[in-house]
Amino acid sequence: MKSLSVIVPCYNEEAVIEITYSRLKTVLNGLNRETSIIFIDDGSRDKTLEILTKIANNDKYVRLLSFSRNFGHQAAVTAGIHNCDTDLAVIIDADLQDPPELISDILTCQENEQANVVYCVRKSRIGESKFKLWTAKKFYRLLNRLSEIDFPVDTGDFRLIDSRIIQEFKRFKERGKYIRGIISWVGFKQVPFYYEREARFAGETKYPLKRMLSFASTALFYFSKKPLLMAVGLGFTAVVIGLLMALWYIAGKIFGFTNAESGWTSIMIGMIFFGGVQLLTIGVLGQYIGILFDEVKERPEYIIETAIN
Ligand code: UDP
Ligand code: MG
Repeated sequence: MKSLSVIVPCYNEEAVIEITYSRLKTVLNGLNRETSIIFIDDGSRDKTLEILTKIANNDKYVRLLSFSRNFGHQAAVTAGIHNCDTDLAVIIDADLQDPPELISDILTCQENEQANVVYCVRKSRIGESKFKLWTAKKFYRLLNRLSEIDFPVDTGDFRLIDSRIIQEFKRFKERGKYIRGIISWVGFKQVPFYYEREARFAGETKYPLKRMLSFASTALFYFSKKPLLMAVGLGFTAVVIGLLMALWYIAGKIFGFTNAESGWTSIMIGMIFFGGVQLLTIGVLGQYIGILFDEVKERPEYIIETAIN
């Protein structure tokens, strides 16, 4: 039987973490194989670390990594994968939105299909705002159109990966990690598993709008160069419009069908339009330069303060 670890990123999850642990434990005990749980405490400011430390001290199959500060969800999952040496790993949220009871079905699916990745697709999402559902849906489809590879839509990081994927993942040096994108990018045999996403068990989401936007921009800019191409297209369109307008007004002056002098409005429109085009394209360029700046510094993605087991 293949060994399994479950990777659980936790940030301020004191309200659920004990229940998450006990539900996970029940599931894992029923699997008849070597299992462990890797909790990553992402610099929580509540009692999460205290509770997890107690759990890890009482259960040698629980490993705990705690960060020196909050590094973000993707960094926490990354640390989990980096420290994982089992045949299989399941990535799951701490808030029980992804039911741990599904793990055994996911394992069966992996075995039947001999898959390297089983990614869980949300058939429905209970307890999310209409706004989040709509933006998430549109975003995944937009990303698919802009990037060179096809990402499965409506999936999160809840998935099972095997040692082949874990090994390849460890070779990724980029600091801005969009994990579900990287796993799709790696390839091998990837199969879907459909499930109903539950509402958060307790506590509140750690992905307010600002974080959602920054997450989306990492995904977009790390996986697509099309925004640069679009900037070129926009610049090109502006040049064509400018040329046509120039021709129109010159001809108008010669043949007397426009009165170019009284053109205050057209000048203002032109200025604002071209100013906008320039700022926008510089902005797009700036995003990529910002990413380059972050990447060339080669800072560590996360810092582990303590590790148990
Ligand atoms: N999380 C984390 N670090 C963060 C934010 C979130 O480790 O900076 C964890 C969080 O504890 C949870 C998972 O990532 O286990 C998903 O976060 P959340 O449930 O808040 O996101 P949502 O499901 O609302 O998108
Ligand atoms: Mg959640």
